[in-house]
Amino acid sequence: MSESALQILSRVFGYERFRGEQAEIIGHLVSGGDALVLMPTGGGKSLCYQIPALMRSGVGVVVSPLIALMQDQVDALRQLGVRAAFLNSSLTQGQARGVERAMLDADLDLVYVAPERLLTERFLALLERIEIALFAIDEAHCVSQWGHDFRPEYIQLGLLQERWPGVPRIALTATADTPTRNEILTRLRLDRARRFVSSFDRPNIRYRIVEKSNPRQQLLAFLKGEHSQDAGIVYCLSRRRVEETAAFLQGQGFTALPYHAGLPAETRRQHQARFLREEGLVMVATIAFGMGIDKPDVRFVAHLDLPKSLESYYQETGRAGRDGLPADAWMAYGLADVVMLRRIIDESEADERFKRVERHKLDGMLGYCETTECRRQVMLHYFGERLDAPCGNCDTCLDPVETWDGTLAARQALSCIYRTGQRFGSAYLVDVLLGKDLERIRRFGHDRISTFGIGRDLSADRWRSVYRQLVAAGLVEVDMEGHGALRLTERCRPLLRGETSIQLRRDPDRRKARVSGASR
Ligand code: ADP
Ligand code: ZN
Repeated sequence: MSESALQILSRVFGYERFRGEQAEIIGHLVSGGDALVLMPTGGGKSLCYQIPALMRSGVGVVVSPLIALMQDQVDALRQLGVRAAFLNSSLTQGQARGVERAMLDADLDLVYVAPERLLTERFLALLERIEIALFAIDEAHCVSQWGHDFRPEYIQLGLLQERWPGVPRIALTATADTPTRNEILTRLRLDRARRFVSSFDRPNIRYRIVEKSNPRQQLLAFLKGEHSQDAGIVYCLSRRRVEETAAFLQGQGFTALPYHAGLPAETRRQHQARFLREEGLVMVATIAFGMGIDKPDVRFVAHLDLPKSLESYYQETGRAGRDGLPADAWMAYGLADVVMLRRIIDESEADERFKRVERHKLDGMLGYCETTECRRQVMLHYFGERLDAPCGNCDTCLDPVETWDGTLAARQALSCIYRTGQRFGSAYLVDVLLGKDLERIRRFGHDRISTFGIGRDLSADRWRSVYRQLVAAGLVEVDMEGHGALRLTERCRPLLRGETSIQLRRDPDRRKARVSGASR
């Protein structure tokens, strides 16, 4: 009698029970069905095709775009006694021939292959000659032209459906926004695939954002107040900031280590090993740190700089609280972050289409930062999921944001941009609104325009908050040609013409916030 999925789970992988929908997915594939699996990173996607490949006769063909991960997966499988191999450009021709021979001899359960290799006529011809258990297409979002992992070869994978209509196919990804999902289904011709969508919610993570004023001190207050003994990760955008922040935390008595791609490989390896092994260590890192880090008791992830998309933010904060115990995702953010990220996008070598996508993703991130609603609802909505009630475990739920009628203020802020020629950043604009007596303002003659001093009844913090929200709402854009100057967009017209009104969030005033213990 053949072994059941559960028996294989236990005998081969050493686990007692399936997680989430793994059992259903495996059952569906074993009986010949196609599947689209959306599951967050770390959710357990691999078993969804590995076990069916062991249960069906023939070899399971896994398409994977990442050479390094392929190798890791195959090593891990071999240690478990599974007959697995990979085919990619890192192999010598002799090694590749050996794998092909094993396939022909039906000596393999799983073969991992890079998409460009799979699509060669030579490899397709080889596949015609053997029995195939299933096709698994990992990182299936690479088929999406709108994502930043777009791989042109993925588009051609639709041919698997034509050439092997009887072989079950499973596409897997952790990127689940609705457009990407639909693109996967169409391009890979998975019309009849059953969809398995896991929740992306991480209910034990508490999401919080503070307005960036003095990021280091804010971080310090957060760590001292809530995580003085805990392991955690602090993400910064630049290598220099990583070094400085790590040194600063060390000076404050924390065991903190830097991690970024500019450090020697050996140093990085050591720091990573210490983070995994020791308790209460703070890793200050760029996004170079984290891939494949499986440390269950990371109690916080702090961001000193804005991530470039909600996908990145979700991935990075998702490293907290893997053990299911309460964990914090904390971020300090300000308009300067937006200017910086826009500059990085605009100055990159990428083509215009790609830059448009990146800007769009950044807008999604801003929307999350400036929301007055439950952050978890905004985030899950972005991933195509719905959370019916506010979560009760994010800052906007715990400390509901007050809103105010910002129509007049927004109009004044917009008109200040216009009257100063759309050539200045928010710091200068705020000075003009407050009617500051500054040489620079006089030199430009901006002490004589109608918006000079028009905003004295609001604080500088409040005005900065107005500008941030106008950028997040797309009424104002950051002009990189103009070195971060703010510029009006078409979308601000109705407001300027008095046809619409706008509600703004009332960010806590910085001075008051500090007095009341960072507003918590
Ligand atoms: P993903 O590909 O979705 O990021 P993986 O397949 O790499 O996730 O699985 C993440 C981790 O969870 C791995 O260490 C894996 O062995 C473990 N895992 C997966 N399924 C189970 C299960 N049913 N029980 C226990 N651990 C599991
Ligand atoms: Zn909430």
